[in-house]
Amino acid sequence: MFQKVLLAYDGSEHAKRAAQLAQAIALKFGAELRVVTAFNPISRLLGNPALEQAIQRETTQANTSAEEIAAELRAAGLDPHIEVLEGPPADAVLRVAETRQSDLIVMGSRGLGNAAALFLGSVSHKVLQSAECPVLIVK
Ligand code: ATP
Ligand code: MG
Repeated sequence: MFQKVLLAYDGSEHAKRAAQLAQAIALKFGAELRVVTAFNPISRLLGNPALEQAIQRETTQANTSAEEIAAELRAAGLDPHIEVLEGPPADAVLRVAETRQSDLIVMGSRGLGNAAALFLGSVSHKVLQSAECPVLIVK
């Protein structure tokens, strides 16, 4: 039923739980699993070399986070692809889902933000609203 599962991962506890579910689904359906981690756009007004350094720093941090979960997924027998992108996170998740033709997006209801009163974070809200494939949101 699912062949291309996309896990949106920001390192949060919710995203870790989403990863467990994405893992189980990918194993169950023999699906390809992709992990996307985005970092917020860095102002081009910075100018070099500060701009290059900032991009490097954010890329490394996002890569480390994605690699951590990828290691767990590998240990479970999967061979996840990793995508680290600069951009507003919801747009990045939606773009990867579209270009990679994902048929399921798995993500947490909340993330690293601290607006505790909200049930859905802004990223899960926007992805749920705009995605063209089913979205599984983990509470
Ligand atoms: P907000 O960011 O609006 O303050 P929040 O951080 O609590 O709120 P979201 O950011 O919407 O909530 O996080 C919900 C889920 O979206 C996360 O569990 C994760 O699956 C995904 N997500 C959030 N940020 C990113 C990101 N930068 N890259 C990839 N996935 C992300
Ligand atoms: Mg967030």
